Amino acid sequence: MPVVFVAASKLPTPFATFTMSGFLEQETGREHVVLSLGDVSDGAPVLGRVHSECLTGDALFSQRCDCGSQLEAAMRAIASEGRGVLLYLRQEGRGIGLMNKIRAYELQDGGADTVEANERLGFAADQRDYAICLPMLEHLGVKSLRLMTNNPRKVKALTDMGIAVAERVPLHTGQNPHNKLYLATKAGKLGHMMGNEHQSEVDPA
Ligand SMILES: [Zn+2]
Repeated sequence: MPVVFVAASKLPTPFATFTMSGFLEQETGREHVVLSLGDVSDGAPVLGRVHSECLTGDALFSQRCDCGSQLEAAMRAIASEGRGVLLYLRQEGRGIGLMNKIRAYELQDGGADTVEANERLGFAADQRDYAICLPMLEHLGVKSLRLMTNNPRKVKALTDMGIAVAERVPLHTGQNPHNKLYLATKAGKLGHMMGNEHQSEVDPA
């Protein structure tokens, strides 16, 4: 097992009181968290978000990206449905780490876009790894996801890992004057869907 379950507790938030389950990735020592709400093990597709850590966006209110508002929108959506899971993966800066993210921001301050900056630092545009998701979902008894994301590549990455995605649910939030270029780059270079599309794009697997 790449990750082991450690403990679970309640986590009261402004949106709902979630159950927080902690998992340890043994190879790297990274600590991941799943917030869950309601009965997610009944077999029906579960509203879910796979969110990669973004310290600047999630905790420091950065407007360079849309992570913080996407995290909040996902937690609100799960709360209003009364059922869902949020996987919070500790892979900062699309997997390059916080210091390298700051280096990339420095290059972006000098005019590079987010993809060019990562490549100039010697990283692929997206180094995230979703292999840890499956054992976490299995632990919680989740059989398939209605995945909240604008990123069709994430849907593919997860289905390639054996995770059933019944539907992609778009998340449209968090656009501001500072991240306009960043979001346009994600749409243009990384294939994110920023329109108002809302349809099932993946067959139930
Ligand atoms: Zn971010």
